[in-house]
Amino acid sequence: THDVHIIGGGLAGSEAAWQLAQRGYRVRLSEMRGGGGTTPAHQTDGLAELVCSNSFRSDDDERNAVGLLHHEMRRLDSIVMRAGEKARVPAGSAMAVDRDVFSAEVERTLREHPQVTIVRERIDALPAEGPTIVATGPLTAEALAGSIVRATGQDRLAFFDAIAPIVHRDSIDMDIAWFQSRWNKGDGKDYINCPMTKEQYLAFHQGLLDGEKTTFKDWEADTPYFEGCMPIEVMAARGVDTLRYGPMKPVGLDNPRDTTPEFPQGRWPHAVVQLRQDNKLGTLWNMVGFQTKLKHGAQVELFRTIPGLEKAEFARLGGLHRNTFLNSPLVLDRQLRLRGGEHVRFAGQITGCEGYVESSAVGLLAGMMAAAELGGRGWTPPPRSTAMGALLAHITGDAEAETFQPMNVNFGLFPPLHDVKKKSRKEAYTTRAKADFGTWMETLEALPA
Ligand code: FAD
Repeated sequence: THDVHIIGGGLAGSEAAWQLAQRGYRVRLSEMRGGGGTTPAHQTDGLAELVCSNSFRSDDDERNAVGLLHHEMRRLDSIVMRAGEKARVPAGSAMAVDRDVFSAEVERTLREHPQVTIVRERIDALPAEGPTIVATGPLTAEALAGSIVRATGQDRLAFFDAIAPIVHRDSIDMDIAWFQSRWNKGDGKDYINCPMTKEQYLAFHQGLLDGEKTTFKDWEADTPYFEGCMPIEVMAARGVDTLRYGPMKPVGLDNPRDTTPEFPQGRWPHAVVQLRQDNKLGTLWNMVGFQTKLKHGAQVELFRTIPGLEKAEFARLGGLHRNTFLNSPLVLDRQLRLRGGEHVRFAGQITGCEGYVESSAVGLLAGMMAAAELGGRGWTPPPRSTAMGALLAHITGDAEAETFQPMNVNFGLFPPLHDVKKKSRKEAYTTRAKADFGTWMETLEALPA
């Protein structure tokens, strides 16, 4: 018997199991690898296998958002951070690990824990009752994914991400770009527009064709491009003007810096790149229709040729991958519980966070939430000014549901500090976060057990 059933022994599931077990709750951890199932990316049967790079990215907790996330996870006694420390290999200011040592350490720690039972089994349907955490990751097995779709409704579980680059608002040059929605619809200011002359457009179009692309892995290759998520370079290859009739359409957009007596409000440029607000804070804007498989270096180089984006800082670059994830802002409540099936929580990458560290952090939070619930205690989420709080707030409601795509932690998710000079802003974010995190931890400890 167990108090909580965790499905998926990857990064998030292992972290959630640890957090619950350390608080005295009995966990059944079901992992299909070693029990007849596997994913196209995993190579071993070990818990918490790192499927690709061996890096947890920056460990700098003073100037970097993911480094700050490490810091917060360590304060909450994360098993991923513990095992990561034991498996650490030199990597400058980044945290990299020996993947085999790391996975073995997580598995040993959980196996030796008296409150944890690891079962090698594939789960094919959401349990009808009992506290459950689903942490089956970006490659959730098919039958379970079907069961999730039945519980959430069609179109609420995606099987591919189609990520358009996201730009920090304060890095857009508003002396060139301007606010306007096409034909001044809505409140007229929903988009930021970057104008292009014919020459600039032709050079940009050629850049899309020439830019180096990443290739699909074998198991992704039969991917159909759905309507609405075709890579921009594939569209560009269809003809020189295809983009001008698609995402780069200039009609109804009057460039206020290109006026004539005939067009006092401004003329339409040859082509336009539009950005749309991506989070409620208004700090992040996505490049509409710019999902792409261009390599990251090529994206930065090419997208900075767009007028107004010469100094763009990207919160994330574009991509297209197989990735099972929920439309969490619609489907989950603020405690990661399925709306209408509240005994089920989700954790890890399936909630729409992105990356090893982020997935583990959301697993950690799900474990803490489940423990608080079982203990009959209230739950206060970490403040939004912290890395964990910012990430959690984003996936559970602050992100725009309509354009929801997986997100890694970054300072654009934090309540902005406009008054602080740009040069010292990163330190200001981490200083505020650490103080607020400390206060939050004290309130946690003050709660009755
Ligand atoms: P996972 O670690 O995948 O864990 C999910 C677990 O659930 C797996 O062990 C799986 O076997 C199990 N499972 C699935 N279905 C069932 C079922 N029905 N019953 C029982 N068990 C089940 N992030 C980075 O930071 N860096 C990278 O380099 C990186 N590379 C990636 C490469 C690929 C190909 C993919 C797909 C993702 C990559 N990611 C990377 C993104 C992501 O951070 C990782 O996938 C991360 O492992 C997600 O953690 P998770 O716990 O949510 O899922």
